[in-house]
Amino acid sequence: MNKELLWGIDLGGTKIECAVLDKQNPSQVVVRERIDTESAKGYDHIIAQIKVLVDRVTSIIGEKPKAIGFATPGVLNPLTNTMKNCNTVCLNGQALAADLANTLGCEVKLANDANCFALAETLLGAVQDVNPNAEVAFGVIMGTGVGGGLVVHGKIINGLHGIGGEWGHNILEDDGDACYCGKSGCVETVISGPALEKYYEKHSGKKMKLKEILQAAKDHSDAAAEATVERMVDYFGRAISTLINVIDPDVIVIGGGVGNVDLLYSEGYERIKKYIFNSREVHTPVVKPKLGDSAGVFGAAMLYS
Ligand SMILES: [Zn+2]
Repeated sequence: MNKELLWGIDLGGTKIECAVLDKQNPSQVVVRERIDTESAKGYDHIIAQIKVLVDRVTSIIGEKPKAIGFATPGVLNPLTNTMKNCNTVCLNGQALAADLANTLGCEVKLANDANCFALAETLLGAVQDVNPNAEVAFGVIMGTGVGGGLVVHGKIINGLHGIGGEWGHNILEDDGDACYCGKSGCVETVISGPALEKYYEKHSGKKMKLKEILQAAKDHSDAAAEATVERMVDYFGRAISTLINVIDPDVIVIGGGVGNVDLLYSEGYERIKKYIFNSREVHTPVVKPKLGDSAGVFGAAMLYS
């Protein structure tokens, strides 16, 4: 193949996906393949599965990769070169980048999956639609967890500790619920999907999914549901306004399951105006993502763009 290619791999807890893009026209997918992670079989097995996948794609396109970008859970600690904060826990403490480079015989670059989401949506997705000249973009993940990624001039800002963009563990609520990270009241313990469902359950004594809570609030049939929705939009406004106060991005993209909630873009946006340090004036486009599940693997490939 005489095109220059970009290889990306999204290392998920259940699937490992590989995409090869055309560097000249990166929205063009040359090959896309996946394999089961089988993470229960441990770290060495995950590395072996990645090798199987890379060998398969190599034989399809007839050339070996020179470099591969990886979207990973958790982050590579730049101070120790080992993984941390991965929900696929067997990765934690492992020298994943070095092990992949040795096994695959090529250069590798790793980035957290939220960072890959932000990079893909910036270079190939929603940001291109609203402001293709954006210099600074922020990708938010609001789902089971809350995370994010900061992209400046087309590059991810990883930061000194590898935690650039991790707004989900800023403290949002004094005396809030305990977070898995060891602190309490993090953004994630307030406006993630499970956190909102937990709040509803505490105030109603009933278990409901966020979707049902939103519907009940809309019908004005349930005071606890209305209180949960009020909590979601208000704390969303507080958390996003502090983000804008610090980095003032040209565009914010909101991914993850909670990011689908339309109210965030209407009432939630009004609350950003209420809390921002700019006399209630906000021009930042806050938009839904465009690439869906593909953002991780495309972002991984774009690490070498
Ligand atoms: Zn936390």
